[in-house]
Amino acid sequence: MGPPSDWSSRHSVAATARRTSALVNVLSGDDPEPGAVAEVLRAHGEDDPLDLSARDVQEMRAVAALLREVFAAEDVDHAAATLNDLLQRGAGRLRLTSHAGRTPWHPHLDGHDDAPWAEWFLASSCLALTVLIWDGQRPPGGVCASPTCANVFLAQGGGQPRRYCSRRCATRERVAAHRQGLRATAP
Ligand SMILES: [Zn+2]
Repeated sequence: MGPPSDWSSRHSVAATARRTSALVNVLSGDDPEPGAVAEVLRAHGEDDPLDLSARDVQEMRAVAALLREVFAAEDVDHAAATLNDLLQRGAGRLRLTSHAGRTPWHPHLDGHDDAPWAEWFLASSCLALTVLIWDGQRPPGGVCASPTCANVFLAQGGGQPRRYCSRRCATRERVAAHRQGLRATAP
């Protein structure tokens, strides 16, 4: 029997980047519980036992704040410069691992397979965002334009760049702009 069909895609650049944005978002909330962060890790393919302490979460929150700067960059040049700083600070040598045969071979920039969560989060996120900039020659994502939302999102497809993290935020802001327009034109 071959490996499950998601065996390889789980470790793709796209999947890693999705995990990065989801983690930045959950970690940017008010004092997230380790359970909530573990839930996001599980949803993005990390296997139990996750063994995530409150201290791990605090350290990951600091990393999330750094990664947010890449999403907040105004253009691809600033995103690349920000990412270069993070790579300098937080990345080790490029190596391949299969986690002793439990995963497909994929690249890592952390020091070793049992590196602390925060080190792994920074290194794996930097690697994915680096490839996205390499591949797309544009910022890898953005920060939601809604004043009531702080979520980051990934750039996707061609066409108009996204402004909002979700359809929900886009709809809410469209309705708010419409109301404001009505007020502005009211006698
Ligand atoms: Zn939003």
